[in-house]
Amino acid sequence: MTPPFADRMQNLGTETAFEVLVKARALEAQGRHVIHLEIGEPDFPTPPNIVEAGVRALRDGLTKYGPSAGLPELREAICENLWTTRRVRATPDQVVVTPGAKPIIFFGILATVNPGDEVLLPDPGFPIYESVVRFVGGVPVSVPLLESNGFALDLAALERLVTPRTRLLIFNSPANPTGGVIPPADIERIAEFALRHDLWVMADEIYSQILYEGTHASIAALPDLAARTILIDGFSKTYAMTGWRLGYGVMPEALAAHVTRLVVNSNSCTAGFVQAAGIEALRGPQDASRAMVAEFRKRRDLIVARLNEIPGIRCTLPQGAFYAFPNVSALPVDARTFADRLLEEHGVAALAGTCFGAGGDGYLRLSYANSTENLMAAADRIAEAVHSLSG
Ligand code: PLP
Repeated sequence: MTPPFADRMQNLGTETAFEVLVKARALEAQGRHVIHLEIGEPDFPTPPNIVEAGVRALRDGLTKYGPSAGLPELREAICENLWTTRRVRATPDQVVVTPGAKPIIFFGILATVNPGDEVLLPDPGFPIYESVVRFVGGVPVSVPLLESNGFALDLAALERLVTPRTRLLIFNSPANPTGGVIPPADIERIAEFALRHDLWVMADEIYSQILYEGTHASIAALPDLAARTILIDGFSKTYAMTGWRLGYGVMPEALAAHVTRLVVNSNSCTAGFVQAAGIEALRGPQDASRAMVAEFRKRRDLIVARLNEIPGIRCTLPQGAFYAFPNVSALPVDARTFADRLLEEHGVAALAGTCFGAGGDGYLRLSYANSTENLMAAADRIAEAVHSLSG
């Protein structure tokens, strides 16, 4: 028999998106045709100039250990990019590069949250926030999102939910799973709130460049906020580089030193040739990334229009990321049952909103990082599935 596991493992959650993918693959193995709207990654290849830079770096021997916080040149390129894309001033000493953005969520929470500390986080939201908060013994406190306000954070709820034990506020804009964007005026109010209550802020900006109107408003650009903000971004979504594993956090220097020590104790460093590809991504031409976002916008318009034609479904127009979050609460079955039937009987893999917290009840998350043809076919199948509920 296996010896017992550490108690803390009971508190670690997971991402159920992967479970739906496994179910969908099992159906495909039986010969069924499935349209995948459950996966959160661009369906575009990594732009060739970025691939080339990675290959060149491999040939040039960038195959050894490197600095734990990341290559100085990449950290500089990140600082330049933060200034041009969102007017955030940062120095390379504030930047920690990691294999994907996810480790910054993990390390950032490990370095700021004590057992018993409360953490305000969006519900529905990326499930890893809650999972890691529980893992370190923190107490997740759900902040609702308002569909009526494009799924922005409910600011009145923030005021109700904050206590003297609150240590950290996490938010994500543009957001997974809703595609919602927090308006700049709300970002200012959140900043004022964080200052008033002396909170750490974790701003997950991984979808900042997949935005359909205006420019991204970063809380780290506001006066006094840089001293308490952990800004998270990465290359997975903007440059279609999910499998390369490249992300970063920008934070006060003293926190960056702690997070770098967590890197030393875990993964040592991020692969050098991957970072070289990242430098090319930031400093090279941006056309491929822009073309991808333009294509996502067309698909968004198409899928949202088609969903809104289906009786019983109502879908807000997402302002960023590549997810639609239709409200299906008017259907005669709950969202999870509907998602199961969609997959098993109609061959569309989608996630129930509750994969992202109780606040997702009554919704589905559909990723439109898929071809127009597949999205049209999926809309037909969803319409059929709704029709069969009343039949
Ligand atoms: N944050 C959010 C909101 C995400 O949706 C994801 C990926 O799905 C990540 C972070 C992690 O991205 P990465 O691939 O850079 O680890």
